[in-house]
Amino acid sequence: MHFSELPLNKNILKAITDKGYDAPTPIQEKTIPLVLDNKDVIASAQTGTGKTAAFALPIIEKLIWNQDSKKKGKKIRCLVVSPTRELAIQIQDDFKTYAKFTNLRTAVVFGGASIEPQKDMINKGVDILIATPGRLLDLRKQEIINLSYIQTLVLDEADLMLDMGFIDDVKKIVKLCPKNRQILLFSATMPKKVVQLANSILNNPEKVEIAATSSAAKNVIQELYYVPKPKKMELCLHLLRNTIKGSILIFRRTKFGVDKLEKSLVRNGYDVATIHGDKTQSARQEALNIFKKGTVNILIATDVAARGIDISDLDAVINFDISNIPETYVHRIGRTGRAGKYGHSYSFCGADELNYIKSIQQLIQQEITLVEGHPYPLDKNTKAVNHKSAYKKSENTKPGKKKGRKSANSRKNKKRWY
Ligand code: AMP
Repeated sequence: MHFSELPLNKNILKAITDKGYDAPTPIQEKTIPLVLDNKDVIASAQTGTGKTAAFALPIIEKLIWNQDSKKKGKKIRCLVVSPTRELAIQIQDDFKTYAKFTNLRTAVVFGGASIEPQKDMINKGVDILIATPGRLLDLRKQEIINLSYIQTLVLDEADLMLDMGFIDDVKKIVKLCPKNRQILLFSATMPKKVVQLANSILNNPEKVEIAATSSAAKNVIQELYYVPKPKKMELCLHLLRNTIKGSILIFRRTKFGVDKLEKSLVRNGYDVATIHGDKTQSARQEALNIFKKGTVNILIATDVAARGIDISDLDAVINFDISNIPETYVHRIGRTGRAGKYGHSYSFCGADELNYIKSIQQLIQQEITLVEGHPYPLDKNTKAVNHKSAYKKSENTKPGKKKGRKSANSRKNKKRWY
């Protein structure tokens, strides 16, 4: 299929050609006609599938149909809610690119940055607003934003939005939009809570699914290293010196782990950038910029901080820690091996992660190639640790210690680990 077969305005098609896209991706082929037809849509698709254009292109098309002419009198007719600031900025960049030959105006608002310039932007008149939930509700409370004219509401990365505790905010936002609005919900995974949310807010939705499992990793040469946890750093240095070259994304499970690895690599003479949830907005953006520009070739990130961000075209992904969620493995390695090129993934598995590897191999229905004969092997007789039973056992052996030992106050103050 070619883009010109889709009922899109010539100014949009021109922008697409300028951007260098030849054909719509599968999610675009399926979603664009549904959005144009005013259907509610629930789509399971991850970053890298072209999902942003799948909603942005038909939304721009519909806004052109009844274009507001005057700048000042513009009403916000499309709202995209995104869980993270980086993703919100990226979505706005995409909208701007696709709408560059129209006079539609876009704005992006997010927390952690000064509110005044964002107010000024909106007061100038905006058709398409991209926002993180908290800042959006703040601006609406201050009556800077009026959601009564919303025609299309997009909830992007819904699973992450719920993981980050935005469920009430999302419900509030939906209520503030008119009753007859169209809702498009995109989510990388479809856990029960996302389905429940979708059932409560979508009207007779069309479902779009893009398979993300084994096919995503088709062009990735996957390697597995069994290594004792305390030797992972040495293995990483060994591979960086001898084997892994080019642009490299290293995943760690926690922000503490990201910082620790950064210090070790810097001490060993590597230039690295890092992103995790404790970094300021400008520090995260700067890290992404220098990595994308190639000023540094190593980026270390947590899954949540990296989610949704368009860091692709990598030479290699290192799973310094193995994720306990098998789908996360697929998402991580799917960032390399794109556009017909081959990529590499290197997974470091310690004794406490053996069971995670088992679940991953079940999901992808293949054995990851085991690399033996490296300098830091794990003792072959090491047994897998079953995290659940280990937890139960320790509970049983400590009478008087109840489940969830932290006080309510401490739980309330709990800092995000990503
Ligand atoms: P997304 O899944 O929206 O984050 O998009 C991932 C990447 O795919 C972005 O860099 C887009 O610019 C790119 N992209 C989106 N649609 C197409 C297309 N039809 N052809 C080629 N690249 C595309």
